[in-house]
Amino acid sequence: MSSKSWSPRSLAAQAMGKIDPLTKAVVPPIHVATTYIRDEDNGYSSGFIYGRPDNETVHEAQAVLAMLEEAKAGALLFGSGMAAATSVFQALAPGDHVVASKVMYWALRAWLLNEATRWGLTIDFVETDDLAALKAAVKPGVTKLVWVETPSNPLWTITDIAAAAEIAHKAGARLAVDSTCASPVHTRPLTLGADIVMHAATKVLNGHSDVVAGALCAREDDAFWNRIKTVRKGQGGILGPFEAYLLMRGMRTLHLRQERQSASAMALAERLSAHPLVARVLYPGLPQHPGHDIAARQMENGFGYMLSVQVTGGETAAVKTAAHVELYKRATSLGGVESLIEHRASIEGAGSPCPTDLLRLSTGIEDLEDLYADLDQALRAGHR
Ligand SMILES: *Cc1c(COP(=O)(O)O)cnc(C)c1O
Repeated sequence: MSSKSWSPRSLAAQAMGKIDPLTKAVVPPIHVATTYIRDEDNGYSSGFIYGRPDNETVHEAQAVLAMLEEAKAGALLFGSGMAAATSVFQALAPGDHVVASKVMYWALRAWLLNEATRWGLTIDFVETDDLAALKAAVKPGVTKLVWVETPSNPLWTITDIAAAAEIAHKAGARLAVDSTCASPVHTRPLTLGADIVMHAATKVLNGHSDVVAGALCAREDDAFWNRIKTVRKGQGGILGPFEAYLLMRGMRTLHLRQERQSASAMALAERLSAHPLVARVLYPGLPQHPGHDIAARQMENGFGYMLSVQVTGGETAAVKTAAHVELYKRATSLGGVESLIEHRASIEGAGSPCPTDLLRLSTGIEDLEDLYADLDQALRAGHR
């Protein structure tokens, strides 16, 4: 059997099976050097020159992610999800037009509005789950990038990646997908027609809430991908070697964690739908979710680890419910092995599409009965 036929789960479990040639260690060493010896003819035969453009531990983690995303052109790791995402926009030229999802990671939306526009990009936000609206928003020849997040924070709206890619490509634009909340276990956007995939690797890829990291993967090794490489090198956006090592260690158990987390999220979504103090559950795995049919087509192995609930009793009951959790941790972020709860509207502030009665739940790997019991007692306490 050639190594090509091992499954992604097997390859990820062994971080591509690389053995250290010096010691035969099954875990590769962490390469910390910032500089490399020049050859006598002044060349760099190892390919490594300096720590800002490149690092072997970063290469090794990138290889795992590129394999998981089926990224023919490879992956690039960055110091955060935001560093990865903003590099895509910085690779565009002044005057370029961008269409982006209205419902998306709040800090990126704020950056696009407040910073990207200062560099001459024009940006329209549309409901990208509405393909007619997306089609109407792209301007052939002017729009250079369509940016979608699916499932998208914190309503878990689903955008049809294949259809969005077709619309973008017809207009001469690229499609980039923030796939943080799907992860390659559930969706591989490049195989559906997307050009770039972005991950906040801080979240489920690392999975242990102890690394801030970001990633981009690409289908084509073209001029745009090379622009992105130039941006990372020039701005010093590369991930540090220790973080790259931790991320690689996290990705070894990605499939196990994801399957458990999404199975628990599905069970919680179903049980909370029947809870008397819950008005509505937002989760793409539920048949009544507006994006369910598309999610069922473009996601596999479940529908992800993120869900939101809208409680009866409005904002006061929502904040009070979050105040009463005991096992869930009241914190921002998502994708870790510990379950988190957050009242998003108080973080996102004015202009947020997030309802004030909404609590966002990141599902960890704890005992499902404990998670449900904790939410049940918190909901009761929150409505007293
Ligand atoms: C967290 C997150 C980001 C930003 O990632 P950082 O590592 O915090 O910079 C971007 N998109 C989504 C969907 C996220 O959840």
